[in-house]
Amino acid sequence: MIPFVIGIYEFQLNRMDREFCELLEEYMMHLEPPLVGYGPSIMQVIPIEKTIPSDQKALPYQQVSGILEGGKSFMVNECIGKKEKGIMEKPCQKSTEVCLIVSSIEGFWNNEHPLGGRVLIKKEAFEVLEEAEKAGVVHLSNNVQSGHWFICNCCGCSCPVLQSVQMGIPNVINSSYYARIDPDLCESCGICLEERCQVNAIQEEEQVYSVIKERCIGCGLCISTCPTEAIQMIRKAEEEIKQPPVDEMAWFEERAQQRGVDISAYK
Ligand code: SF4
Ligand code: SF4
Repeated sequence: MIPFVIGIYEFQLNRMDREFCELLEEYMMHLEPPLVGYGPSIMQVIPIEKTIPSDQKALPYQQVSGILEGGKSFMVNECIGKKEKGIMEKPCQKSTEVCLIVSSIEGFWNNEHPLGGRVLIKKEAFEVLEEAEKAGVVHLSNNVQSGHWFICNCCGCSCPVLQSVQMGIPNVINSSYYARIDPDLCESCGICLEERCQVNAIQEEEQVYSVIKERCIGCGLCISTCPTEAIQMIRKAEEEIKQPPVDEMAWFEERAQQRGVDISAYK
């Protein structure tokens, strides 16, 4: 197994039931160590664009606009993780129709597609992401430099990838940024910790708030709602930044190599 179990999970969106969810939750405990224990990172975070300072300009694949502008066909679907939690009676309180899929082929996503979903025009795709940012969910995409085909909008309550970060597992999500709180500007309102951060990367001690750099995935959610503009996005030092594989095939090859799997027969 190189990535997740393709076909067994993602494509069951429209026929999941309680038994499937129970089996999956049991299986996840065994699946997560091999899934998250190898490089390259499974996903990369796409920070809220306006939170990146202009002098730290992100590359196109690190920006929502860079990914969506190249798309010609768009669809939004229910998030499978949130749907699973709903079936298990632990529903996410935020919008569940947040799984955005993009194709560079005109008309690729259409109403007859077996995945279901709602076909969008580009403007509506941008609106889905804007709403997601307001709601306080994290944009994640495949950890590659080109060929992005989805932007997940993830909550800490439902997303196994974010939950791995909450557990302190390193390198699950690739990111070039982290947030920093200026203690002189912070007025200890608690919004960043209580309402925004999905990975428990903000701590509070005697009313002093700070970011745990090792856990922060640089999503920008805390920055966009801080009432005193006390939080800033910082670009990591060049030696800390891990360039994503050039495309999905390179990602598979790198992961296969780390797992000792020969994929030459599949190329
Ligand atoms: S949201 Fe801003 S002001 Fe409020 S605790 Fe966080 S850093 Fe401080
Ligand atoms: S502290 Fe949390 S909300 Fe803020 S950028 Fe880091 S991961 Fe995102």
